[in-house]
Amino acid sequence: MRGPFKKVPPELWRSYQWQIQNRIKTKEELSRYIRLTPEEEQGIERTAGLYPMAITPYYLSLMNLEDPEDPIRLQAVPRKVEVEEDVQSLGEPDPFREEGPIPGLTHRYPDRVLFTVTTFCAVYCRHCMRKRIFQEGERSRSKEEIDRFVAYLKEEEEVREVLLSGGEPLSLGNEKLRYLLSRIREVRHVEIIRIGTRLPVLAPQRFFEEELLEILEEHSPVWINTHFNHPAEITEESAEAVDRLLRHGIPVNNQTVLLRGVNDDPQVMLRLMRELLKIKVRPVYLFHCDPVKGAIHFRTSIEKGLEIMDYLRGRIAGMGVPTYAVDLPGGKGKVPLLPEYLVGKSGSTYTFRSPLGGLVEYTLEVS
Ligand code: SF4
Repeated sequence: MRGPFKKVPPELWRSYQWQIQNRIKTKEELSRYIRLTPEEEQGIERTAGLYPMAITPYYLSLMNLEDPEDPIRLQAVPRKVEVEEDVQSLGEPDPFREEGPIPGLTHRYPDRVLFTVTTFCAVYCRHCMRKRIFQEGERSRSKEEIDRFVAYLKEEEEVREVLLSGGEPLSLGNEKLRYLLSRIREVRHVEIIRIGTRLPVLAPQRFFEEELLEILEEHSPVWINTHFNHPAEITEESAEAVDRLLRHGIPVNNQTVLLRGVNDDPQVMLRLMRELLKIKVRPVYLFHCDPVKGAIHFRTSIEKGLEIMDYLRGRIAGMGVPTYAVDLPGGKGKVPLLPEYLVGKSGSTYTFRSPLGGLVEYTLEVS
């Protein structure tokens, strides 16, 4: 592993700060490692200021540098298609109407709130559902904004869970993160803090810092939601990051997004789910790619998602089968989708399609 970064001393490679300070952000820098295609060169030029590029050396090291269709490269390197008319004319910058009563807050379900705490990400994923926020530059919420959020929380007594997202919430400095979590913990009715972070995938070195793990543990129960999309993202470093989180009592769940060219293949998805279980991450959701402006080219059909789900069932234990879901536009919630298994009924006899092949009749006897 490590690709073109073999000569970087281990103490630097294992430093989150080093990974962030050495992010690749320009066409010239990236050209040192990859022979860019015209589609990518124009993509980097034309997305600048709109959907910028940043790639950690770690994430770059996961790419097959010779392959323009590499699944890591597709997620990280801008392409012209993102700004072309036929992609830009489709989708919306914010299909879920996330802007709420105060900056960063979305209150869609009575028991949960979402708070986006920064526009910064270690890598700007090309498929991101919040890619609209990249245009705002890299900034995080001030203490005053956090205080306003906590004041709102105190008033909303039905809220049991706070989801922190971004951008990348764990990119906040430790002092600000501690402030944010401790202020949330002042609110007695908040039971769970969930943190949506892609750092286990993009810069797992953040979790090699003991202080961060202690902060998370101190504000328990804290759950991590991460976002692995491809088996190539599961490495010794990401496994170590997850292991450290678990040792501090922080469960790690995963949400995958179904992406054309990246993971829209049943065998790739099966390998991903198996690898996630091996590093003790529970695959919870497989999301259909949202109708986000600038990311429409990643979308597949819903039939493709169902085909993948059908393939997974019977090939991996139930805890490795995520729920396939579509997030409805307009903030109308998530709906789960399942392949059809109940195919007929006659009296009290039901006919099922077995995931192992063939039809099976099941007569329901009740007393
Ligand atoms: S890390 Fe998450 S929020 Fe940031 S760009 Fe990637 S998907 Fe979007």
